[in-house]
Parts: sequence; C-alpha cells; structure tokens
Amino acid sequence: MAQIKEHWQNYINGTWVDGGAGRIDVVNPATGEVLAQQALADAADVDRAVRAARDTHLSGALSGLRPVERGRMVQAMGRFLLEHINDIAPVLTLEQGKPLWEARTEIEGAARYFEYYGNQAETVEGRSIPLGAQYLDFTVHEPYGVSAQIIPWNYPLEMTARSLSAALATGNTCVIKTPELTPLTNAWFAHAAEHVGLPTGAVNILCGLGQDAGAALASHPLVNQIVFTGSVATGIAIATAAARNVVPCVLELGGKSAAIVYDDADLDAFESDARWGIFFNAGQVCSAMSRVIVHESKHDELVARLSKVAQGLNVTDGINLPEFGANMGAMVSTAQRDRAEVMVQTALSQGAQVAAGGHTLNRAGAFLQPTVLSAVRPTMDIAQQEVFGPVLSVLPFSTDQEAIEISNGTDYGLVGGVFTRDLDRATTAANQIRAGQVFVNEWYAGGVETPFGGYGKSGYGREKGREALWNYVQTKNIAIKMRG
Ligand code: NAD
Repeated sequence: MAQIKEHWQNYINGTWVDGGAGRIDVVNPATGEVLAQQALADAADVDRAVRAARDTHLSGALSGLRPVERGRMVQAMGRFLLEHINDIAPVLTLEQGKPLWEARTEIEGAARYFEYYGNQAETVEGRSIPLGAQYLDFTVHEPYGVSAQIIPWNYPLEMTARSLSAALATGNTCVIKTPELTPLTNAWFAHAAEHVGLPTGAVNILCGLGQDAGAALASHPLVNQIVFTGSVATGIAIATAAARNVVPCVLELGGKSAAIVYDDADLDAFESDARWGIFFNAGQVCSAMSRVIVHESKHDELVARLSKVAQGLNVTDGINLPEFGANMGAMVSTAQRDRAEVMVQTALSQGAQVAAGGHTLNRAGAFLQPTVLSAVRPTMDIAQQEVFGPVLSVLPFSTDQEAIEISNGTDYGLVGGVFTRDLDRATTAANQIRAGQVFVNEWYAGGVETPFGGYGKSGYGREKGREALWNYVQTKNIAIKMRG
C-alpha cells in the first residue's frame, strides 16, 4: 500500500490546526485498514473559520480585485491540482475506493472547474437600464461574502472544485466542510490557494461530523450563502438552517435517474453507456443510470447484454487499477455496501430477479458485485429509492407514454436519458422528462459548461455552467438622478 501521512489537520485562516472534536480514523474501503487520522472540527473551529472568511471578505482583498486577476488565480489553482495529480490520485483511491485511473479522471475534472470558472470571472457584468434622460441606472453583481460548502464523499474533489472555483471567481471567501469518510484529498485545495497567492482566510477547509461541524456551519449567522451536495434528509436540515438566517442555499441531492431505451436504439452503443452510467465509481454517482426502461421487444436481449457487461468487470482494489479498463473498485464503506445489498435482497423479496451479481465479494473490503436486476416493477422500493451503488434495475415498457410515466414516477428528477435513432421521439421525450438534464444517446453527455441540478426532491438551484455564477452574486441596482 502507498504510504501516506498519518495525521491530517484542518486549514483555518491560513494555518494547519487540530480540531476541538478529536480525530477520526480514515479507512481504506478496499482493505478495511486504517489509512490515516483526520482532525475533527467542532463548532468553535467552525466559528473561527467563518470569522476568518468574513474578515477577509470585508477587507476587500479578494472581492476588490479586478475579476480578471481573480480569474487568473482560480485558473492557476486548477493547474496546481494537475501538477500534483500523481500525489493526489493514490490518496483519493485509498480513501474513497475508486480505481486509480478514475481518481485521475476526477482530479482532471476538478481542475477543469477552476479553468472554466477562472475564465468566467470577468463575464459577470451588470446592465444599464434606460429610465429616461434624467436618470442613469445600472446593476452590479456583488459577491455574497462567506460561502459555506458542505461536501459528500463520492466525489470529494470534484464536488468541492465545482462550488469553490465559482465562489472564488466571483469574489466570495469560502469555508468547506469535507466529508468524514473522505476528508484527506481536500487538503490540496488549501495548498493550491496558498500556492496561487489567494488572501489568507479566503479558503478554509475543515472536516467534522455532519451533526456537529456541518450543522454549526449551516446555521452560522455570518455565513451568507450555502451550497450543499448530499442526501435529501440532510438537504432538508440545511435548507431549514438557511431559512432561519434568511440566506440562499443551493441543494444538489440524490436521484433515481432512468434511461429510456426505445425499440430502435443502438444497443451496441448503449452497452457502453450503461457501463459508465451505473458502474463508474461503483454506482456512487448522484446522476447514475440506476434504472433502464426498455421497450418490451428488446427487454430480454438487453438484460442479457447488460448482465454480460456487469460480469465482465474486474472488481478489485482500486490502487491496483492504474489503467482505464473493464474494472470497478470498492464502495466507500462496508456500511454503504451492506445498505445496497439489503436493498437488493428487498427487491428480490418483492419479486425482482437477479440477472447478474447481487452479492458482496467474499474478501475484506467494501465490494459489491456489479448487479443487474430484471422483472423490476415501478412500484418496488428498488425502483423508487436511491441505492447509490452498482445496482441497475431494468423495467419493460410497451408504449412511449408508459415509458415517460415510469421515468417520471419517482420523487426525484436529477437527470434522464433517451436512446433512440428517431429525433422526433427523442425531443418529445426530452420535453416530457421531469429532470434538470436530459441525455440523448449518451449518458453523462455535457460537461462543466452545462447547467446541472434537480427537479423535485433532487434539489434546487443549478451548479455548473454560467447559471451557477448567479448562486454566488447578488444584484444591486444603482439609480442616479442627473442634476444637470
Ligand atoms: P450526507 O447528506 O449524509 O452527507 C453530505 C455532507 O453533509 C457530509 O459532509 C456530512 O458530514 C454533512 N452533513 C450530514 N448531516 C449534516 C447536518 N445535519 N448538517 C450539516 N451537514 C451535515 O450524504 P452522503 O451520504 O455523504 O452523500 C450521498 C448523497 O449525496 C446521495 O444521496 C447522493 O445522491 C447525493 N449526491 C448528490 C450530488 C449532486 O450533485 N446532486 C452529488 C453527490 C452526491
């Protein structure tokens, strides 16, 4: 196993410090071994971090910069991550379980956010509003101030990068609450901030328990804006805390996203979409393809193809997987794995059938076989609840309308997919699917440039793309009466 530092601290006001809540073991999910210890922040640490961010904001050291200068620093943070990719990737694999090549992909994705939002910094412009000859009226967009960002464990680097880059580019200072299971790699954002010369206090990174440090951050009266990515239950708690302080929040929550595969779809191409859609990051992706809704005439063939894909994946310790390939790493923890396995068992008890996988691997580590379930009905728990693991449910449909009804028949609405060669059918379905993003003929199409976020219980507000910039600025109108 790669050797990594034993003791990791929090980064508050430019200094590495321990936390008031002791330490937590960070476990390698592929082996069950303790990897390192992470200092845990308590409410007092959170308060120090928020005050540091607040002071830096009020000093104008970041918000007062010309946007193009801020943008340059943000872009340089992304380059810093890429320069250190060989240091960061093994730590990400060891703390999260994903294959080493997937870890590299995540770091490249994180760097891309800094590149994109660094470039966007100077595009946040106001407008002038004609009010007649006696007035000059215009808008300016000002940063909120302190942005609190609460991060999940599935993509700890990309999720932080997504909000941190846009918040800094628009002149906000930030307090990041990293996930308890995967806190380590976020340290590189602090190194990056120092390296590019961001003002002290602009970036604070701390780990703490959700109900302790997380709740203290979400409810802190000096926080001006909150970005949360995680579960629905926690999202509700955070939105409630934000409402009490009357601050805006963005919620990126879970999903139960479906691909609709019509009878004219290219099944060869779809196999590869399904491989990425449900087995990338062991299915621990909010926008995972967790349901396939397939025309009944293609159902049996597709179940056989998808089973072959699942059975063809080599499931093993991600640190041994440096090359892109047909493989899958551990889930983030044995608790997550057991939860997914119980959901599979419940599905079987409700009448679903295992076409592939379905079991944990008989070895140490949080491994679940890539799983395909058939004979799933829309009302079953497995078709309604997020698994957040490598479990794909296949449901048949007979009419196009039925396909849409099944697709829309959950509380969630993060993404959807349509696979057909018929453009009319694709656009009709894309219009009818209730989700924040619809992929046509390629799951995970889009990029940092394309807005992303939920309908329904998948949350509100948008990350990514130009839309996300508006999360981090408030509009001021300046109306001038001309005295001439
Ligand atoms: P979680 O809600 O348990 O935790 C997310 C973060 O919130 C962690 O940092 C945790 O410490 C913190 N937290 C927990 N309780 C808190 C509280 N009371 N107050 C403040 N903070 C608190 O979610 P998770 O298990 O880490 O992540 C999995 C979930 O996240 C899944 O539902 C998944 O779909 C969702 N997710 C969504 C997206 C997206 O962009 N939509 C991306 C990744 C993950």
